[in-house]
Amino acid sequence: MSFPRRFVRPGCLRHLCSLTLALAPLTGPGPAAAQRESGAGEAAPSSVAADSSCRISGTPMYVPASYLGAVARGTRDASGEPGRGYWQQRTDYHIEVEIDPATRLLTGRETIRYANNSPDTLPILAVRLYQNIFREDAKRLEVLPATEGILLDSLAVGGEALEVSDSDSSQTIRDGTLMALRLPQPILPGETRDVRFVWRFTIPPDASLRMGTVDSTSFFLAQWYPQIAVYDDLEGWAVGEYLGPGEFYNEYGDFDVSITVPAGFGVWGTGALQNPEATWSQEVGERARKAAASREVVHVLEEDDFGPGKATRGRRGERLTWRFRAENVRDFAFATGDHYLWDMTSAVLDSTPGVAGGGGEGGRREAHGRKAGAGRTATASAVYRPGAEGFGDVAEFARISLETFSGTYPGVPYPYPHMTVVEGGSGGMEYPMIVLDAATGDRNRTLEVTAHEIGHTWFPMLVGSNETVHGWQDEGLNTFITFWAQEAMGYEPSPRGENLMQYAFIAGHELEVPILTPANMFSITGPWYGIAAYVKPAVALMTLRSALTPEVFDRAFREYVRRWTNRHPSPWDFFNTMEHVAGRDLDWFWEDWFLGRGVLDQALADVQSEGDSVEVVVLNEGQLAAPADLEIRTAGGGEPMRARIPATAWSCGSRQAITVHARGKVESVTLNPDLSYPDVDPSDNRWPAESPAGEAPQPTPPGN
Ligand SMILES: [Zn+2]
Repeated sequence: MSFPRRFVRPGCLRHLCSLTLALAPLTGPGPAAAQRESGAGEAAPSSVAADSSCRISGTPMYVPASYLGAVARGTRDASGEPGRGYWQQRTDYHIEVEIDPATRLLTGRETIRYANNSPDTLPILAVRLYQNIFREDAKRLEVLPATEGILLDSLAVGGEALEVSDSDSSQTIRDGTLMALRLPQPILPGETRDVRFVWRFTIPPDASLRMGTVDSTSFFLAQWYPQIAVYDDLEGWAVGEYLGPGEFYNEYGDFDVSITVPAGFGVWGTGALQNPEATWSQEVGERARKAAASREVVHVLEEDDFGPGKATRGRRGERLTWRFRAENVRDFAFATGDHYLWDMTSAVLDSTPGVAGGGGEGGRREAHGRKAGAGRTATASAVYRPGAEGFGDVAEFARISLETFSGTYPGVPYPYPHMTVVEGGSGGMEYPMIVLDAATGDRNRTLEVTAHEIGHTWFPMLVGSNETVHGWQDEGLNTFITFWAQEAMGYEPSPRGENLMQYAFIAGHELEVPILTPANMFSITGPWYGIAAYVKPAVALMTLRSALTPEVFDRAFREYVRRWTNRHPSPWDFFNTMEHVAGRDLDWFWEDWFLGRGVLDQALADVQSEGDSVEVVVLNEGQLAAPADLEIRTAGGGEPMRARIPATAWSCGSRQAITVHARGKVESVTLNPDLSYPDVDPSDNRWPAESPAGEAPQPTPPGN
């Protein structure tokens, strides 16, 4: 990494470094108060040792050639900001689509306005035809129902028709879900070109892979239109294959989508509905307007309303066209059906931007009170079939999620007009302004999946990383921010503790691979992708937040969101932004936790108490580095003292000693007292040692 190694102290290498510090009597809030103030279940030590980094220089952290090249060209910056020469393509979609529920046939026509903002001349365009993953002959890592895939009826670029066939032609090259168009004229830098498709496909018979048939008259449509692949400054055409587990990497642009369905079918989609008065019935429209101004959940559409002329305008046998517009989003998805219930409430988004911890709690209170800043709102909706267990709570869960993510953590206001949670499929899946969640009937699971899919608004809908390669960059960051929303809704047990347990259960297994393992490489069934992309990155970010202090970490984390909203960050943009804003070289952390393998295992090796001085020796018996936080209790009670051996000290050797001037006879020393770090063997973290406890409870294996 090209960030300066400002904390390198080469005089201290592989030998024991002894750190001495004097701790003044504590006058500030004690650990319990600090923990309460953080609002996050994590306490920073009240005193910390000076940084004693002795990282060996000359072994720079791995950085991929594509990123080094982008920094050299000035499209990325070593500070983690977009470079002065940063550019990004733009794709604006104008789509007309029609669905026949009886045959499950979807027919569409679209014009994509492609803007080449790159300095490169493009002789080809890469197109994603996601529906081809359902073809019988498709490469994939999932068991799926078979369809014929997508059938292209016509294709034109710049007004010139191109030959289309199911196999390669002189103008198209087909490869699974990808197609390359050989352009009659290349697209020059700064040029815009219209690409026109007419297509159809049969909607898959179930919704097991993020989209499809929910039941015979309910559908969720995603990956449903021909899409231009991303062309970026790192790799050029980003054409990682769509094989199932790995997700998406999309350009940003505006969508203008007209959806034609039978009267009686409601439509909910990305963006704002442009013609509610021509689609919803007057009664439903009035209830929706009332719900948009209500903090209570309003039943906008109930079972008695089903049918043409009641839920919607029109008579049986007629068709209605629903028009949606969305600005600067990376995808478009929608649901349609004739027997969905619809609950709606309103979330307040723009309070004072949240400060995590104590300030964040205040921010959230403000969002609920009258002094709600600008008071901008978004609607929070649940759309579900009668009998969908637990979905009666979902509109409220969605409101709390939007307000917590906006006002508390990450404290970046939700930018869109609505969030709609649609019931169906299996698990959960995220799109801009609309998500698809399965009903489970389990309250904890329902609130977790609601919060998780809504949390994806920030990663990757706003911060548009490449999910096809770096699943952790949205899943891991989202798992981490979702802790706050889960806590706001009373998730039991502690979501942070549960995540730590899931990690500890797997940590050190030979299939527990580095976080930066590309998503498509996970073909082995089991929890490995879930651990690498969701659980471990969240553990790592909690560890780093403790190591840097929440205040420093949160400032850097928010700056990453600000810098890369509606852009395409690489993992190294994240790493560099965190280092740049924190003012610290964190290569040791990324190398150990994100690029490397191993476990965290610290142990109290020795405690020597003499007079008012105590020397504590800590061993690092694992491979990962984290601070060693110590709590020292002395005779006579009072607030315990805190000391920290910084994480960078472990590069000096695996045995570290710290001498603390105590206020009296030392009675006990506890390592990792706040359980901030995922120590795989906590049995040796106390002095004097505790008698062996009963068998530890078994953690539950992680889900996705
Ligand atoms: Zn997710």
